Amino acid sequence: MDPILDGLNLAQRDAVTSSAPVLQVLAPPGSGKTKTLTARVAYLLSHHGYLPQDVICCTFTIKASREMRERLAKLIGERLESRLILGTFHSICRRYLVKYGYLIGLRKGFGIADSDDSRAILRRIIKRLNATIEVKTAQGKISRHKAQGITPDALAERAKAEEMEVVDVYRAYQAALADSSLLDYDDLLVRCGDLLREHPECVSNVQTVLVDEFQDTNTIQYDLMNLFAAQNRRITIVGDPDQSIYGFRSAEIQNLRRMQRRYPNTSIVLLESNYRSSASILKSAQDVIEQDTTRPAKTLQPTHSFGTLPVLRKLPTANAEATWMVLEIKRAVAMTGGLVRMSDIAVLLRSASLSTRIETAFGRAGIPYKMVGGRKFFDRTEVKTLVNYLRVVSHTGHADALLNIINVPPRRIGDETIKQLTGGADKAQVPLWTFIKDVIQGRRSTEKKLQKAAEQGLCSLVKLIEAAKQKLQECADASAPCVLLEHITDSLSFQDYLMRAYPLDEDSRWANVRELMGQANDAAASVGDVAQEEDLPEIEGVEQEQSHAGEEALSKFLANVALATEATKEGETETEKVTISTIHAAKGLEWPVVFIPAVYNGSIPHSRAEVIDEERRLLYVAMTRAQALLYLSLPLRQPRLGEGEDGSTTLTPFLTPKLVKERFRPKGPQLQEKVIYAIADILRRPRPTADDMYKDLNSLPSTLDDRWTAEGEEKKDEDGQWKDAVDPNDLAGSNPKRR
Ligand code: ATP
Ligand code: MG
Repeated sequence: MDPILDGLNLAQRDAVTSSAPVLQVLAPPGSGKTKTLTARVAYLLSHHGYLPQDVICCTFTIKASREMRERLAKLIGERLESRLILGTFHSICRRYLVKYGYLIGLRKGFGIADSDDSRAILRRIIKRLNATIEVKTAQGKISRHKAQGITPDALAERAKAEEMEVVDVYRAYQAALADSSLLDYDDLLVRCGDLLREHPECVSNVQTVLVDEFQDTNTIQYDLMNLFAAQNRRITIVGDPDQSIYGFRSAEIQNLRRMQRRYPNTSIVLLESNYRSSASILKSAQDVIEQDTTRPAKTLQPTHSFGTLPVLRKLPTANAEATWMVLEIKRAVAMTGGLVRMSDIAVLLRSASLSTRIETAFGRAGIPYKMVGGRKFFDRTEVKTLVNYLRVVSHTGHADALLNIINVPPRRIGDETIKQLTGGADKAQVPLWTFIKDVIQGRRSTEKKLQKAAEQGLCSLVKLIEAAKQKLQECADASAPCVLLEHITDSLSFQDYLMRAYPLDEDSRWANVRELMGQANDAAASVGDVAQEEDLPEIEGVEQEQSHAGEEALSKFLANVALATEATKEGETETEKVTISTIHAAKGLEWPVVFIPAVYNGSIPHSRAEVIDEERRLLYVAMTRAQALLYLSLPLRQPRLGEGEDGSTTLTPFLTPKLVKERFRPKGPQLQEKVIYAIADILRRPRPTADDMYKDLNSLPSTLDDRWTAEGEEKKDEDGQWKDAVDPNDLAGSNPKRR
């Protein structure tokens, strides 16, 4: 038996081996779409003789592309795997633009504007134009236009009078980006599309294109897929219309149909067995999605046994809810005799803002966790500062990065000076950096003369950056990011500065700086998936630009930082941490134990949601991430967010009374041996021994559960004073007891 087909069912094998040039694999969650897609990549390489550098494979998240690479390394070997063009649309497009962007007039060392940069640029523009639109609204609108391939000019032609403001802001925004040779996230896709339309020869080697999570592609990604595959129109996509949850970001579910019309020879394969979840979890999720009567009926057979019913728990308040989660996590780990580990657990949120309370409770109770979709590490002030230094060294046109560091550490450059400088640069129509240099060299002057001290500050900044640029030129290899970081921190006496500025937590801040250096040092195994890629293949007839290895390493490192949603070093396999993530970022992933808090009306469906069905699909996606244990919960009161005048909440309408009665239990599961064995079977892990299971029983904080009735009512304490505020410190340590 071919090892690639080993462990696949018949329908999956059909999909893997299909000789159809255009293939759509449409199937529900957990049916092995991603597994099948991965096997198909391996199969095409080994049976169709494709070279890895001629295969493009698009995933939806960085985590998914990493997992796919891991599986492929096992199937085809690391040498071949590392040459595949595999990653998110954004990272693949960036690679093409770095290599061939010069063909469409893009400066080689273009920088990437992250979402904060975009907002800063928009803020300035809106102020300058006296526009009334809000920064965030403008950002969202511009992004949506880009996703649909609408340029400012195209928008101007069809915009109504009241929308002209958006056109102006959009146009000025693009000009500002261009002035500083920056691309925002959307531009990476848009400009790559431009490149491939004008120079299809850049992808003339590509034999086949594969796309995961196709239901959430937007117009621009759909176009890119077709452009990638222009040479011989061989495409495989996998997807599930029931999991389309990015409509709010212009994902187009119609792309499935459009694709069938464009490629009339499209074959469709359906997969119908679920390998992920226990039958009870699967049934409850199916009951949710089937409330949408407009969708075609589908079959989805569980392959696992029933397991234990999902939990739906009502708690008096959001604090109590967080405390309850702490409790259930501790119970799940203890009761299963260690079969379930912290890293097996995920908390999935409708909105990221729900995380604060949970993070606090976890922090106090000593539950290790990591936030996905937050950029915590790179958002830390000291890390951000140093990254901004690198961005300026890599690319002095990066005005926002420059403004960010202009007075850090303090150089006596105040707001007035900055106003003079930005105003002057705007007026002279030169980059801020050029203007500053001209001013200190006496070639230009600001409207009001600068103070002596400020001028000296600017001089020292320019000197420092110039020296670092020189250093970069001398360092023509992959060590450049790290060498530069050391050079910059030394020149700034950065540790002394931290000591002066943050005497209370200088230690931990300096530790972050060391961590950043570690990541730079370890570029090949650092954040994101950009680092793992080899260079794109050389293509005959397409000229290459000379490049400097140090500059390239630096730009790659910075792209990694810009595209990363979390900082995790390879090897440090995120051990023993609970994952807290938005539902959106959890797409395609799975965990043995899943918590979905805040399932009340207004949270899900979200009060500002435009499409109710999409909210239902979100809940469906969240529930179908769970393999063995699923916990839903809601606080009965949520001031400001609840609907009632007193902040009281109502259960989400997606959980009908009938569904709740038939498919859920109101309290945490009493995990009996039978259930624990079922979990072990689903996870394909050895069954824990009875000793293991009973060993931790005594330390279980189960009594805490008695503080609330199944209906979420508070039970009164002896003195009648019971508040929800169970001190989470009660739960800290290995042997939590009530005081
Ligand atoms: P989603 O829609 O959520 O992205 P998916 O259809 O992509 O789900 P996968 O992630 O590929 O599903 O697979 C779900 C789980 O089922 C994985 O743990 C995978 O290893 C397992 N699996 C898939 N096919 C089989 C099979 N034939 N035998 C055993 N396990 C399988
Ligand atoms: Mg998948």
